Amino acid sequence: MRTTLPVQAAPRVQQPSNGDHFVIVIDPGHGGENEGTIENGFLEKSMTMLTAQAMYEELCHYDDLEVYLTRTTDVYLPLKERAEYAAGVKADFLFSIHYNASVDHDLFGSEVWISSFPPYNAYGYQFGYTQMLTMRQMGLYLRGIKTKLNDRGTDYYGIIRESTELGLPAVIIEHCHVDEERDYPFCDSEEELVAFGKADALSVAKYLGLSSQELGVDYSSYAEELPEVNKGARVPSTIKDETEPEVCELELLDTDYDNGILKLKLSAADYDSPLIYYQSSYDGGQTFGPLQPWPDCDVLENTYTDTFTFFMEIPSGVQPMVMVRVYNLFDVFTDSNFIDIPYSFKYGEELQPQKTVEEKAGEPAEEAKSNLPGTTTFMPQSPEQPVKEEGVRFSNFIKLCLIIAAILLVTVMLSQMIYYNRRRRKRRQRRKAEGASKNHPR
Ligand SMILES: [Zn+2]
Repeated sequence: MRTTLPVQAAPRVQQPSNGDHFVIVIDPGHGGENEGTIENGFLEKSMTMLTAQAMYEELCHYDDLEVYLTRTTDVYLPLKERAEYAAGVKADFLFSIHYNASVDHDLFGSEVWISSFPPYNAYGYQFGYTQMLTMRQMGLYLRGIKTKLNDRGTDYYGIIRESTELGLPAVIIEHCHVDEERDYPFCDSEEELVAFGKADALSVAKYLGLSSQELGVDYSSYAEELPEVNKGARVPSTIKDETEPEVCELELLDTDYDNGILKLKLSAADYDSPLIYYQSSYDGGQTFGPLQPWPDCDVLENTYTDTFTFFMEIPSGVQPMVMVRVYNLFDVFTDSNFIDIPYSFKYGEELQPQKTVEEKAGEPAEEAKSNLPGTTTFMPQSPEQPVKEEGVRFSNFIKLCLIIAAILLVTVMLSQMIYYNRRRRKRRQRRKAEGASKNHPR
């Protein structure tokens, strides 16, 4: 089953509030004592600054645009003050720059958070859609354009809430997850963080229909590419789907006992939002393999494949109780039925990691072997690895040299001792022969 919302060419619903030109504010998330995500050597407050400054510099090349930054140094700045600053310069839009991490370090992909309320929801959606296309172009997995409410029924994220309360549209750009190996290559260097800033600038230029004589680009007709929205209503796909995916059925198609491979068919559906991840378990849901991207998932078109087959590797010696967990756009999950296999698989000796075959094909075997069953082991491709190995080899060489030197020293000392003993004995014998007494007085 495919659910499709019609997306037609429509103009941008937001118009400049300053007459003939737009004013925007870029907000590098966090700062000062508010450090943001700290994972795996990443520090969010510094990452956001690099990206925001690159975005700022790129946008300065465009005509008829005023650009500001909420902070240019590592200072703590309350969200309310950021919003007030933006309102003070009469901004049309505030873009808050962020990097993400998840509690279980298992999520990956790019997302945009927007206001739940008209007309900011419509503005945010049209920008978010443009930004998602840019992120997809860069190779990132898409987690969509979403809203979140707090207990009071207002926007959950402070920067969006504080801005819209002042009549200012605001979005949060969560570029990627710094704690997941599939997103890691997109943010592991300064160049990557700058590339995100340039990409964000491109999205802004397209969304606002800017042109730059300096860069030789003109996006004034890009508005035709924007999805159709109703300024006075919420875009349905952005409203939080509180309910679990409605359908999730697992079927065993084939069993390869010699290699411990199961061929499974998964049929799943969510009537409100697309399915974006699945993960499998062979121990009845106690542990899971890494999250997998959903086949043919398109969060912008709200489409995904509802039935597909996949392969699962079962470690030798394990009697599998197989099941699958599926996640919708808002990370709400549901579990499949269990498939109980009444005997254990016996084929090699080693306990293999819990994984699907698609994953196996995409990753080096060595890395997969380091995974424990049901866990995602984060192994960043450290560029220092070869240097470290060289270092180990060099220190072993030094040790060997020291040992050889010690042996040589001992040998020399021993031979000297033997030599002197022999000389002393000869002297004594000579003295004896000369009739000299031992205590010869001087
Ligand atoms: Zn953040």
